[in-house]
Amino acid sequence: MQEQSLFQKIRGQSRALKILFQAIENEHIAQAYLFHGIEGVGKFTTALYFGMALNCLANKEFRPCGVCSSCHKFLNFEHPDLLYLFPTPNLQLTPEGEIKNDEYRKEYEGYIRNKIETPWEDYRFSSNIMIRKESISWLIKRLNISSYEAKYRICIIEDADLMNIETANAFLKTLEEPPESTVIILTTNNPSQLLPTIVSRCQPIHFQPVDPNVIAQILIDDFNTSPRTARIVSQIADGSVKYAIHLVQGESSKLRERAFEIMQMALEGNDLAYYRSLQANLQKYNAENLIEIIRYLCMFVGDLDLIESAEEQVVNIDKKDFLIEARAKIPIQNSAELTDKVLDFVLLMQDYIRKIRGNVNLQLIQQNLYFQLNNLFRP
Ligand SMILES: [Zn+2]
Repeated sequence: MQEQSLFQKIRGQSRALKILFQAIENEHIAQAYLFHGIEGVGKFTTALYFGMALNCLANKEFRPCGVCSSCHKFLNFEHPDLLYLFPTPNLQLTPEGEIKNDEYRKEYEGYIRNKIETPWEDYRFSSNIMIRKESISWLIKRLNISSYEAKYRICIIEDADLMNIETANAFLKTLEEPPESTVIILTTNNPSQLLPTIVSRCQPIHFQPVDPNVIAQILIDDFNTSPRTARIVSQIADGSVKYAIHLVQGESSKLRERAFEIMQMALEGNDLAYYRSLQANLQKYNAENLIEIIRYLCMFVGDLDLIESAEEQVVNIDKKDFLIEARAKIPIQNSAELTDKVLDFVLLMQDYIRKIRGNVNLQLIQQNLYFQLNNLFRP
């Protein structure tokens, strides 16, 4: 048996959890909730655990236990009374909610598998996604038949802002008067994109950006990240646990390779090559790409601080030779000085990320970040 409630796993959201605990304690559950806050701070997981807790078979203090038959089905998204909607391409859903086309079904199942196995990665569908009218029609139909086995039927609509006006209007009546023992939870990163009529029918619960210290601890405890890497990543993750995990679990992506290329050119002082590559890639990277490149740069620079003293903690260990060479070139007196330089660089890059979000010219940022890297390697 699980020794503690799964709610313990959700960190940095004590205010949101307190409201939900009180609702459970007083058995005063709202019919509809709106979980809002930036991406990757635990809204979906909390929604799932809340639904599990309401149906868990374990003793009260351990709910949700994660191991009873009800919890087990919830965790595998197989519980007949868990109705889960998320934005999808047009899957040509039948009125019975079936997906007949094999390719579409594969995509749908792929999304769920990703949610279970690597929820910190974004799942990419083959075409544009939204919460579709057919999905909502199917949901309404399902809600009108009685529940199968659960005490509470749980309906989670993820990224509810990705519903067009017509679909939202079709859902209003159900949201206002859900069938008995049904809890509807909408989640959104963009509450301002929701119709006011939707928002007013839900109890809003805000999920805060997670404190960097909490993020660092999660990386250390659950993802085997070294304390120094955890500190750097937590500072660049903007309060998003999902993004932080994505960064430490990051596989060799094209953006990481680009970051590595930039590191190499800066180390060699090959300014001309860099400016040529900037010209060649003028349209290639959008603001989000550039932010990710900067984050990878910060990881590489962070590794320079580790490669001599704590090699086992280096993130980009596949670039070990490069890191050793680069570390040797940095003009410093002692390792404390390097740690300071690395932190200064990371803070500066955070500022660049804010500027990118504030629509600063991307080319200018790319010129400046190269200049800053260059500075790191020269006296
Ligand atoms: Zn349970």
